[in-house]
Amino acid sequence: MDKQIKVKNIPTEVKVHKPDAEKFDRFNPRNRIYVRAVTGLHQKLRKYLGFIAMLSFMLLPWVSFNGHQAVLFDIFNQKFNIFGMTLWPQDLTILAWIFMIGAFALFLVTTFYGRVWCGYMCPQTVWTFIFIWFEEKIEGSANQRKKLDQRKMDFDKFWRKSAKHLSWVGFSLFTSLTFVGYFTPIRELMVDFFTFEATAYAVGGVLFFTFCTYGNAGWMREIMCLHMCPYSRFQSAMFDQDTFTVSYDEKRGENRGPRGRKQDPKELGLGDCIDCKMCVHVCPTGIDIRNGLQYECINCGACIDACDEVMDKMNYDKGLISYTTERNLTSDKKTHAFRPKIIGYLVVMLVICGIFVADVMTRIPMDLDIIRDRNQLYRVTNEGLVENTYTLKILNKSQQDHEYTIAVEGLNNFNIIGKTQVHIRSGESYSLPLSIAIDPYDLKSPITEFNFVLQRADQTQTQLAQPSKFFKGR
Ligand code: SF4
Ligand code: SF4
Repeated sequence: MDKQIKVKNIPTEVKVHKPDAEKFDRFNPRNRIYVRAVTGLHQKLRKYLGFIAMLSFMLLPWVSFNGHQAVLFDIFNQKFNIFGMTLWPQDLTILAWIFMIGAFALFLVTTFYGRVWCGYMCPQTVWTFIFIWFEEKIEGSANQRKKLDQRKMDFDKFWRKSAKHLSWVGFSLFTSLTFVGYFTPIRELMVDFFTFEATAYAVGGVLFFTFCTYGNAGWMREIMCLHMCPYSRFQSAMFDQDTFTVSYDEKRGENRGPRGRKQDPKELGLGDCIDCKMCVHVCPTGIDIRNGLQYECINCGACIDACDEVMDKMNYDKGLISYTTERNLTSDKKTHAFRPKIIGYLVVMLVICGIFVADVMTRIPMDLDIIRDRNQLYRVTNEGLVENTYTLKILNKSQQDHEYTIAVEGLNNFNIIGKTQVHIRSGESYSLPLSIAIDPYDLKSPITEFNFVLQRADQTQTQLAQPSKFFKGR
C-alpha cells in the first residue's frame, strides 16, 4: 500500500509573509499579504487557463441553441436547459451523473497532480488573480502597495483607493449579472436590470452575488482557500508518494544562506538556496514552501517561477522548487504514474461516463401520467357500454412544440371518447380528459390492465407506454 503523505500545519510565525513580521499584532485576525508579481512558464499557463475559464463563464449564457439560451438553470420553472436537452425534476439522475463525473475527475487530477485545480482554474483563484491585476495597475507593485497602505490619507491615496474599489465593484457587478444570467434569461435580465424593471428576486440576487464576489476576491482572498474551502481539508486523503506537488528540494537547497554570485557555495558550506525569500513573496497564500508540503499550498507554481528566475541569475540549475513527488525527492526510484488508485478513479469515471451517455441516449423527452376519475370507477351508458374516465397529463420535455397521438393497447373493441391527437408547446404540461367505452361482453374480468401509449406524431419510434386499469364492475 502506498504511504500517505502527512500534510503539515505550519506554525503561524513562519506561515505568512507579513508586511512587518516583527510588528505582528497577534490580536489582528489577519495580516495582509502583498503578493509580488512574477513571470514564468507556470504563471503564463495560469493566466491563459484563468482567462479561458473566465471567458467561458462570461460567454456561455449568451450562447443560443435551437432558439433558446443554451445553458439556463430555470429554477422557478423547475427545468434546466443544457444545449439541446431540457432536464426536468424527473431527470435529476442525469445531473447527478454529471456531478459524479466532475468529482471523480477532480479526485483523479488531485491524486496525479495535487491541488492544480485550485492553482489554475478555481474561480476563487482566477477572480483573485484578476482583482490583484486591477490592484497592481492602480496602486503599483507589492512594495508600492505596502507603502501606500502605511501612508496617511492624501489625495493620491484617496483616488487610487477609490479607483481600485470602483473597478472591483464594477467587475463584481458584471460577474454577478453573468452568474444570475445562468438562472434567468440573460438578455432580459440585462435590459431589465439597467432599466430598473428587473424583479426583486433578480435585483436581490445580483446585489448579493456582487457583494460575495467583491468580498471574496477583494478582501477574503486566501482566507477562503485556507479556512473555508473543504477541498483543502480532504485533499491529503488523495495524496500519496507518487503525487506531483510543488516541493522544495531540501537536499539540494540546504544549508540556505546569502552568498555572492561568484562565490562557491560548497566552500561556504551552503546549498543552492540563497534565502532571498522570493518564493514567499510571490505566494498567494503567504506560505514558505521550504517548510514542506502544507495544506495551504494551492499548487500554483508561482514559487517555482520565482525561484527559477533566481537560479538563472545565480547560474545554478533551475528546479530547486519544482513539481515533483515524494518518491523522487526521497529515493532514486521512479514515480509510479499508473498506480491502483489512479486506475481505480479512471475506471469508476469511465463507468459513470458510460451510464451517463446511456441515460442521455435512452431518455425520452416527454412524460405521461394517468389519473383515473376518483369519483366513479366506471359508469354504464344508455347503450349498455361500460365507460371509464381518465385524465392524461402529458409533458413536452423537448425544446420544440410537437403533435402527440394517444393510443390504447391491451383492450379490444373499445371507443375513445375525446381527443387522440394534441398539439403541445415546448415545456408545456397538457391535461387531456378522455374516456374509454367497451361492451362488457368483450371484457373477460372485472379489472383489465392495459397501456396508454403516447407517441410523437412525426416520430413514431419514440413511444412512451403507461399502464392503467379498466373497471367493468361485476
Ligand atoms: S526563491 Fe529559491 S533561492 Fe530564494 S529563498 Fe526561495 S527557494 Fe531559496
Ligand atoms: S507555495 Fe508555491 S505553489 Fe504553493 S501556493 Fe505558494 S506559490 Fe503557489
